[in-house]
Amino acid sequence: MKDSHGRTIDYLRISLTDRCNFRCIYCMPEEGIESLCHDDILRFDELLAIVRVAATKGIRRVRLTGGEPLVRKGVVDLVRQMNDIPGIDDISLTTNGVLLPRMAADLKAAGLKRVNISLDTLDADQFTYITRVGAIEQTLDGIDAALEAGFNPVKVNAVAVRRLNQDFLGFAKLSLDRPLHVRFIEYMPVGESGGADGTGWGKEDVISAQEIRDIINEGARAEGLGELIPAEGSRPEGGGPAEYYHFEGAQGTVGFISPLSRHFCGSCNRLRLSADGGLMPCLFSDERLDIKTAAEAGDEAAIAAVFDRAIGNKPDEHHDRVGTERGMSQIGG
Ligand code: SAM
Ligand code: SF4
Repeated sequence: MKDSHGRTIDYLRISLTDRCNFRCIYCMPEEGIESLCHDDILRFDELLAIVRVAATKGIRRVRLTGGEPLVRKGVVDLVRQMNDIPGIDDISLTTNGVLLPRMAADLKAAGLKRVNISLDTLDADQFTYITRVGAIEQTLDGIDAALEAGFNPVKVNAVAVRRLNQDFLGFAKLSLDRPLHVRFIEYMPVGESGGADGTGWGKEDVISAQEIRDIINEGARAEGLGELIPAEGSRPEGGGPAEYYHFEGAQGTVGFISPLSRHFCGSCNRLRLSADGGLMPCLFSDERLDIKTAAEAGDEAAIAAVFDRAIGNKPDEHHDRVGTERGMSQIGG
C-alpha cells in the first residue's frame, strides 16, 4: 500500500487495551483513565478480521501495544492466531515487562518475534515515582525473562525527560554485556501538555537525541570506554526510525529515536489501531476512522475501505503539533 506521499505502509500498531498496571506520570493521570467498557473494545475475532484484511492490503508487521498489552486476557492465543495469517511475518510487542516472567516463554512459542520493554530510569525510587505504582525489579525481571525466552532483539526503550535527570550513560552501558538494544526516545507532545503538577509534556523537558549522545560520549570517554560508533550493518531487526550506535566490543547497540529534532515523517510506514477500533493515520493527529462498525458486521470490503481512507489521509508530516486529545495509553504508544 502506498500513501498519497509515496510511502509504503506495511506496519500496523495495535492497542489491545487502554488499561495498564502502571500509571506513568507522562502517560496517565494518577487515578487512571476512565477505561473503555468491555463492549467498546475490539473483540479478538474482530481484530483478527481487521489484520487479515490489513495483510491483503500489504501490512506485513504488527506491533501489539496499549495501555499494557499483556493485561488483556487471551493475548497469547491472539498472537498464535495472528501468526497464522498469511502475509503477516513479524509480530512484536511493546510492554512495561511486568508480566513477562509469567508469559515470555508462551508468547515466544505462540510466534511473537520481538519485544520492546519500556524502562525510563535505573534508580529504584525514581522508577516508583515515574510509574507511581511500580517497582524496578518488576521491569528488570521482565528484561531477564525476555532474554531467557530467546527473543532477539530485545530492546529497552527510555523516554528522555530533562527534569528526570536520567543516567544516560548507565543505560547505554546495559548494551555492553548482554544483547540488549537500548533506545532513547525524545519526549513527545502527546496527550495533555504542560501539566501544572509537574506531569504532562513541556517543551523545556525535551532533550534532543544529539544532546543525549553528547552526554553519553563525554561520560564514556571519561571512563575509558571510547565513543559510540555508528552501527552500520549491525542494526537490530525491525530497527525502525532509530539511528544506531554501539560501543567497541559491546553485545548490544544504543539507538536514538528523534521524532522532534529529526522528523522521520518522510519514511513513516505505519498506521495505528486503537483498542476501541479507531484507525489513526498519524500519532500526532486526532483523526480516527471507525473500523469497528465494519469489523462487527464482518464486512471485509468495508474494513478494506477504511484502510484505503486512512492511508489516503496520512499527513505528509506532523508539523510540530503539540498536544492531542488522547494520551499515549489511549492511542497506543
Ligand atoms: N505499556 C507499554 C509500555 O509502557 O511499554 C506499552 C504502551 S506505552 C504507551 C508505549 C511507549 O510509549 C512507552 O515506552 C512509553 O514510555 C512511551 N510514551 C508514553 N508517552 C510518551 C511521550 N509523551 N513521549 C514519548 N514516549 C512516550
Ligand atoms: Fe502504562 Fe506504558 Fe503508559 Fe506507563 S507508558 S502508564 S506502562 S501504558
